[in-house]
Amino acid sequence: MKRHLSLALATIFLASGAWLGAQGKYARDPKQSMDEEYTKKIREYTTEPFFGSPLVDYLPASKTVPTPKAVLGDVAGAPGILPYTAKVHEYMRMLEKASPRVKVFSIGKSEEGREMIAVAIADAPLIAKLDENRARLAKLADPRTITLDDAEADRLVAASVPIYYITGTIHSPETGAPTALMELAYRLAVDEALYIKAIRSSVITLITPVVEVDGRDRQVDIYNWHLAHPKENWPQLPYWGKYVVHDNNRDAMGLTLNLSRNVLNAFVEQKAQVLHDLHESVPYLYDNTVGDGPYNAWVDPILTDEWQLLGWNNMSELTKFGMPGAFTHGTFDTWSPGYLMSIAAMHNGISRLYETFGNAGADTVERTLSPRDYARTWFKQNPPLPKTKWSQRNNNNYEQTGLLTALSYFGANSKMFLKNFYLKAKRSVLKATTEGPAAYVLSGDDPRPGVQAELLRVLQRQGCEISKATAPFTVTLPAKKKARPGVSTTADAAGHGGSDVQAAEQKEANKEEPETRQFPAGSYLVRMDQPYSRIADALLDYQYWSPNDPQKFPYDDTGWTFGELFGVQVVRVTDVKVLAVPMDKVAGEVKAPGGVNGAGSLFAVNHDADPSLIALRYRLKEASFEAAEEPFEAAGRKFNRGSFLIKNVDATSLQSAASELGLRVYALGSAPTVKTHGVKTPRIAYVHSWLGTQDEGWWRMEFDLLKVPYDYISTQVVAKDANLHAKYEVIVFPPVGRPTQAVVAGMPMWGNPLPWKTTELTPNIGKIDSTDDMRPGLGWSGLANLESFVRRGGVLITTDDTSDLAVTFGLAPGVSIQRAQRLKAPGTAVRTKLVDGASPIAYGFGESSAVYTSNGPIFGLSNSVMGGRGGRFGPEDRERATGRGTPDDPDQPQGRPAVEIPEEPRAEPWQAMPVTAEQLRNGITIIPPKQRPRVVLRYADQKDLLVSGLLEGGTEIAQRPAVIDAPLEKGHVILFSNNPIWRGETQGSYFLVFNAILNFDNLDAGRKVDER
Ligand SMILES: [Zn+2]
Repeated sequence: MKRHLSLALATIFLASGAWLGAQGKYARDPKQSMDEEYTKKIREYTTEPFFGSPLVDYLPASKTVPTPKAVLGDVAGAPGILPYTAKVHEYMRMLEKASPRVKVFSIGKSEEGREMIAVAIADAPLIAKLDENRARLAKLADPRTITLDDAEADRLVAASVPIYYITGTIHSPETGAPTALMELAYRLAVDEALYIKAIRSSVITLITPVVEVDGRDRQVDIYNWHLAHPKENWPQLPYWGKYVVHDNNRDAMGLTLNLSRNVLNAFVEQKAQVLHDLHESVPYLYDNTVGDGPYNAWVDPILTDEWQLLGWNNMSELTKFGMPGAFTHGTFDTWSPGYLMSIAAMHNGISRLYETFGNAGADTVERTLSPRDYARTWFKQNPPLPKTKWSQRNNNNYEQTGLLTALSYFGANSKMFLKNFYLKAKRSVLKATTEGPAAYVLSGDDPRPGVQAELLRVLQRQGCEISKATAPFTVTLPAKKKARPGVSTTADAAGHGGSDVQAAEQKEANKEEPETRQFPAGSYLVRMDQPYSRIADALLDYQYWSPNDPQKFPYDDTGWTFGELFGVQVVRVTDVKVLAVPMDKVAGEVKAPGGVNGAGSLFAVNHDADPSLIALRYRLKEASFEAAEEPFEAAGRKFNRGSFLIKNVDATSLQSAASELGLRVYALGSAPTVKTHGVKTPRIAYVHSWLGTQDEGWWRMEFDLLKVPYDYISTQVVAKDANLHAKYEVIVFPPVGRPTQAVVAGMPMWGNPLPWKTTELTPNIGKIDSTDDMRPGLGWSGLANLESFVRRGGVLITTDDTSDLAVTFGLAPGVSIQRAQRLKAPGTAVRTKLVDGASPIAYGFGESSAVYTSNGPIFGLSNSVMGGRGGRFGPEDRERATGRGTPDDPDQPQGRPAVEIPEEPRAEPWQAMPVTAEQLRNGITIIPPKQRPRVVLRYADQKDLLVSGLLEGGTEIAQRPAVIDAPLEKGHVILFSNNPIWRGETQGSYFLVFNAILNFDNLDAGRKVDER
């Protein structure tokens, strides 16, 4: 049956003449000779004629320009061939040498030092005058330079050629793009077909053939290993880039990775109009930017129209070639601006993304699809085949056919798209006075100057201009609406970061009159009358995703409000008078002022949860640091609980560290009378699982940036080392992103070992960590070793799924986890409340902080190891039974006198129920008071819980513990329900982890023990 279908399709196709045809606008130039041998191979490797098109079923010959075969030894997309990054770049440079139509730029390096490039292709005169063209585009990109003069813009548009930027293989197992882009570059440089000539003269095509250069080389290693071991299973890639796996395509907000910064800089500096990112996962070509709602709320509607124009036209062309499975509507939403392509959407360009169908390597194999993929739907009338033989060449055909038809359409409408580029930039400048806000203001007296500076640096990396007020000023803030019952007003409350002022300002927010607010000189302004206002607005504003949204499966995070997650106050100002405040544009990077004030032998640094504080501690390893257990005043200043007191330190080292790290240090005449404890530099083991390094990578990157040293060990090392306590004081076990059982069990042990090691065949892997066999997991011995580590005094820090692991396997007596029934918080910013400010883990944190969670575990607490709160917790337990009287009255059995009813024990949802006299009669299961879990932060009440994003069923997690310090004999297990370190977007919560590390031997400081 299935074979019939495929044959029938082929027949219809051939009969229709589309495949044989090659006529019409995409006809090749009959006068140009073909590279016969190359063409023959293309046809041989294309498994069905309809998996190709008249655009790519031949290769034009050139006497001077080498084809991809020069470096590949075969055609692009040939079976068994995946080129390393260097080979791809070598070929692009050969093209540059051979053709005046090609120019190669270096756009920066990866974390491991590999080069990234961009290749420009257009007519030779255009390539020769790239700089002049770019100078014109720069004026369109910043309409302030032409005083928003539309007539001048029209003249510039008429004289300019737009840039269409294509990026390949950011996702390492999506392997097809580099060869497709090599061949595309050749075609664009050599082919004399009329439509190609038109592209060359009307568009500058810019190509980065490999975005994740480090991951590409590892992927090629693994593929070569697979070729050398044809009968064996091969290892999945546990590492792509140095730090981040699949989420390297979720970094366009935080811009923490070199690849994101390099592509952003290339896009912004070249003044490109389109960023088109190539991915492989969906059969056979999903042009996903049209996708589905909700669209990002901050993009210009002109852009969303451009998505429709380009997407539907593009797929329509493939439909006309008879290529099955080309479609543009689908489930992908364009809400989050974190994808690589979002760089374009947020910088007045056009974001695009293809998902084509790859085989994760260059094997030609039979692929069977799921019904969901081959179903004919309204948006996919010619769906993919249920089962077919699929080759890398097919994939290359789809990628190139899609891109060539897109370039052709874009080139034919280049003036319209250039004009749109100008209009979007102009509307971004006008935004301050049209839709608003006029500006965001970050106060000069923010209690967290270091994190504030880091937030502003993120905006600077995004290309935003930052200004600094030279005098105090006052703005009018709009009247706040009263909260509707059960609905948080926080999202309307115009950006008050998670600090102590939050609660007070929330009360203020319930007033109805407009209020004014004063800001001191030195306050920062992010003006919205600048060309890249949209990215600043998207990052600093609040997000609201309705639980009733028709889209039930958010593709990624739903909330990210940077001011909240950085714990920095950000005020959205719609009062346009703010634009007239005297201010200077900040030249160079924003830096928090740092250095030593005064001289002496004792110094104090305020604890404001600035991540630089841990850098300071490790940098001055030999000095003596103490933490104050209570707030104090000294040198005329207030210092928070946890502030450092530093002695025995070399003044010069302290001065240079403080100024580099942006920390203000104060010399004290005498020691304050406050209880302190030592802050040492513990030896840290940092644990990863071979099952996945995705989420831990974000943590590891921050540890490296702050120069916090650690031993990077796998769960396999934990399994073998029964004496971890002798080597480490702290074990950090970040989220694995896999179920608890899998972390323990590892991968199935059948089949062959899966090595991850540096060898001659695989020179690029096994450097970050290595193993002879990735399959074994933590195992029972690993659990036992972790338990013994903690019992002997170690501190184990766990988050999300690793917290689940600690609870499940009894490392956190008294803590239980309830399974969510209705909770939906898929990457949401939520509010937490301080429960125990005396806990060292809370040092530097105020009464209320926003944190990031992605359906984190719902913790319950009990003073008994038998639990008691977990599943059966609920108000119904405490309600009276049916009987006489009102709900508040006692019942009265008839025919006997009334008796006194003992007071029911009561506890808040974040607390354990007090121990009863009944339980203490024989208290075998009652946890001794000092060993009971201590809640540091809890989730806010339901009405205040949501900060940004989607939150449904929030009652399940409202008021529950968020951060718990669970003692186990001499040690502690620290449990996070939120993820404190995420994508460089949650700087405000990093120090919850760092406090646990720095106070590892004094976590019980300030603890109040209640016998019941
Ligand atoms: Zn991908």
